[in-house]
Amino acid sequence: MNYENAVRRAAELIKGSGRTLALTGAGISTESGIPDFRSPGTGLWSRMDPVKVASSEAFLNDPAAFYRAFAELWHGYRQARPNDAHYALARLEKEGLLSGVITQNIDGLHQKAGSRAVWEVHGNLRTCRCLSCSQSFPFDFLWEKYRGGENPPRCGECRGVLRPNVVLFGDPLGGEFYAAAKALERCRLLLAVGTSLTVYPVASLAQRAERLVIVNREPTPYDGRADVVIRDSASKALAGILAALEKI
Ligand code: NAD
Repeated sequence: MNYENAVRRAAELIKGSGRTLALTGAGISTESGIPDFRSPGTGLWSRMDPVKVASSEAFLNDPAAFYRAFAELWHGYRQARPNDAHYALARLEKEGLLSGVITQNIDGLHQKAGSRAVWEVHGNLRTCRCLSCSQSFPFDFLWEKYRGGENPPRCGECRGVLRPNVVLFGDPLGGEFYAAAKALERCRLLLAVGTSLTVYPVASLAQRAERLVIVNREPTPYDGRADVVIRDSASKALAGILAALEKI
């Protein structure tokens, strides 16, 4: 299928599906300046091994080293702005063509773009919690402490170590993942955008969809079973799909 046909077919599937969900990964945010994991040269994996550094074990062993690796990076995520791909998904939802977004990203850019139904299956950077007394604080509380030289940042109540409410490697997935899996039961079409579909169990969600459209710059293990694969930038491909929808 050539590019134009793939974009038109994706638009037809969205129009005809009745219930479509999007599954997004780090690739949808690279055009907002946030590096993904696996893009050659620019992905975080070319600088470090996130499975080692971003694991719950690594955090517990040496929280100060964890914060040295991630605090500035994650503060940067919080300053980022949505790009046209995030806005395109928000527009599809507004027009009744998308029932929601399941995202592996912690950057909050879908909500900033206006998406309302968002399942953040790997957590978010809005809040953090104390590992000792479980008290919850805004992420800014943690950031201000780190920036002021307190590493690891500690609880305002009991001085326990604070950790962001993100899912680290080795953590069990929380309620958001199971809610997303449940939402997918009633979904006819999954639109996977900017994800390598290699991080489990989230990637397994792609198996459950009746129909699958993949927008990703590089091949994924699910390309063979997808109805449509568009191998291009998320913002360009989604803009193309929006334009094609207007002509149907
Ligand atoms: P990944 O790095 O494994 O894959 C990203 C994919 O997106 C790659 O295959 C790449 O080819 C593609 N891509 C990159 N830029 C693109 C663009 N502009 N348009 C289209 N495709 C593009 O990321 P993943 O699948 O999300 O891996 C999962 C893990 O990455 C998750 O655990 C997630 O929490 C974590 N992560 C999140 C962020 C974030 O919050 N923005 C950033 C880095 C990593």
